[in-house]
Amino acid sequence: MDSNIGELAQRVADARRVVFLCGAGLSVPSGIRAYRAGPNAIWADHVMEWGTFAKFIADPAAWWSSFWLDAHGDLFKSFQPNAGHVALANAMRRSQDDLVITQNIDGLHRLAGHPEAQLIEIHGRHDRFICASRADCPGVESPVERVDLSRLSAGVIPRCPHCEAPMRPLVLLFDEHYESHDAFQSWRGKKALNDADVLIFVGTSFSVGITSYAVRCAEVSGALTINVNPEPARFPSMVNLQGGAEALLPTLLARVTGE
Ligand SMILES: [Zn+2]
Repeated sequence: MDSNIGELAQRVADARRVVFLCGAGLSVPSGIRAYRAGPNAIWADHVMEWGTFAKFIADPAAWWSSFWLDAHGDLFKSFQPNAGHVALANAMRRSQDDLVITQNIDGLHRLAGHPEAQLIEIHGRHDRFICASRADCPGVESPVERVDLSRLSAGVIPRCPHCEAPMRPLVLLFDEHYESHDAFQSWRGKKALNDADVLIFVGTSFSVGITSYAVRCAEVSGALTINVNPEPARFPSMVNLQGGAEALLPTLLARVTGE
């Protein structure tokens, strides 16, 4: 479905509640490689194999050094939010009920000044760490900002100060559920998706559970769905705005907020 961007902006401006669902494509212009889509996608098979709790718990030292640090170690240190992140942060002024649900663990929404109450990092965040015990250790629900990875080469892994279990990043792994940690706020995110009358997908390849859930919500509720992405989505009622989020979001959202 094609649509004039001015008309579309008006429909977003008139909405009661707008929820954005963001994927890796939003951070690609910031220099962060996507896992799955596009020519800069990284090692999809490797990620699918290693990005699991089963692989982590089988050999935490190898997981940290061969997988996590390879894939994410320096990845997030010097990257900056792009115009798409900034436009989203500014757009939150439209209504306190508007929300961004992001699949990105890179923290760039927060760096762009996104209001915390209007952001759900549904796949977690790269810069927090928890106890990997699945028992009720206090270290599971109390993330820390740092772990000592300096002796990984000698096989020394970071361990929970409460129970000595290995420490892990606070991120959703491929063999885990959204409900596996309260920090993912999945209940709140799903409620918002059901409640939205406009759903805007940004830079997502529609390959993870939460995007499927969101599409089903819109089918039931009749919400307007918009896809901001270089690749068009194949859902019949979805409006495709084809292009990069760093260019299209500022254009669309400036019209929505009248700025
Ligand atoms: Zn523990």
